[in-house]
Amino acid sequence: MIQAIETILADIPTVRAHKLSVATMQSQTLVLVRIRCRDGIEGWGEATTIGGLNYGDESPESIKVNIDTHIAPLLLGMTADNVAACMARVRKVIQGNRFAKCAIETALMDAQGKRLGVPVSDLLGGRLRDALPVAWTLASGDTRKDIAEAEAMLEQRRHRIFKLKIGARSVEDDVRHVLAIKKALGDAVSIRVDVNMAWSELEAQQGIAALQAGGIDLIEQPVRSEQSAALARLSRRFTVPMMADEALKGPLSALSLVGEAAASVFAIKIAQSGGLVPARLAADIAQLAGVSLYGGTMLEGAVGTAASAHLFSTFDDLSFGTELFGPLLLTQEILAEPLVYRDFMLQVPTGPGLGIQVDMDRLDALRRR
Ligand SMILES: [Mg+2]
Repeated sequence: MIQAIETILADIPTVRAHKLSVATMQSQTLVLVRIRCRDGIEGWGEATTIGGLNYGDESPESIKVNIDTHIAPLLLGMTADNVAACMARVRKVIQGNRFAKCAIETALMDAQGKRLGVPVSDLLGGRLRDALPVAWTLASGDTRKDIAEAEAMLEQRRHRIFKLKIGARSVEDDVRHVLAIKKALGDAVSIRVDVNMAWSELEAQQGIAALQAGGIDLIEQPVRSEQSAALARLSRRFTVPMMADEALKGPLSALSLVGEAAASVFAIKIAQSGGLVPARLAADIAQLAGVSLYGGTMLEGAVGTAASAHLFSTFDDLSFGTELFGPLLLTQEILAEPLVYRDFMLQVPTGPGLGIQVDMDRLDALRRR
């Protein structure tokens, strides 16, 4: 039986400023959910978002209020070992709030996995891989700094896929920045760009033509999320793959995007999808339609990253890898044993539930009072 649901905010500085077209992050607010059950088992979930309300319509504070005030009372006293029944109740009564729902579903799955002695990946159908390729995002905004950072990552064998955040400057400046980095790092690495919706269709035509000619591997969400028709036209016009990210908000949007042939790659994110199960459904729709998969992040800390890793490990096609580097962007660790990154891959935890243990002393020191 579900006995207590606690929502914790923790503010953690990032290792460097992280510049997106919509916001510059100097710190990240982790939103963690802890569900305690009467059998003594507890589960953890995460609903971290990016840049306050710059990225989406849920903020850390709104997520906490909505879970504490509206979602937790629905679940207290319910049987904890039927995750689907719990989530059906939440989804019936609560509109939207995809991040909050994701944290709740993750915590319930973590608890259920621990109860059954199996990893969350087993609850999601079983893993097809034990390690996931992890991209790093170069987002200092400075070309020389970005090149030095990428070289250090290659040297440490941590990342060889690099995603550049662009869209805040002119198209010409952005193209010059990206192609200088591509030229400096050579063909042994994959360079992709994420425009975070900053371009008009005409700017996108101009920018993508130059990026495609320069050997860039992937163009992420060049235009506004509502403009799926423009994304579809860009997909037809260019051979470099277009990836839908902000446009994907769960299975229904996945269905309409494949119907419009808007993109050839989907960035699957558990929080944007509203949970692990809806994210798997969105991924299934993509796979059925021949759309490739990429494992996305909301720059979550270790809990959301581990949960995402469990899901992505079940994907048949993960040809564009993942960007599960969130914990590496943070200056503080909240786990007793950190997640393992080695040889350009994140190792998917193997223990029961999420296979991680939150260090309460560390978290208590970071939590917002
Ligand atoms: Mg993105």
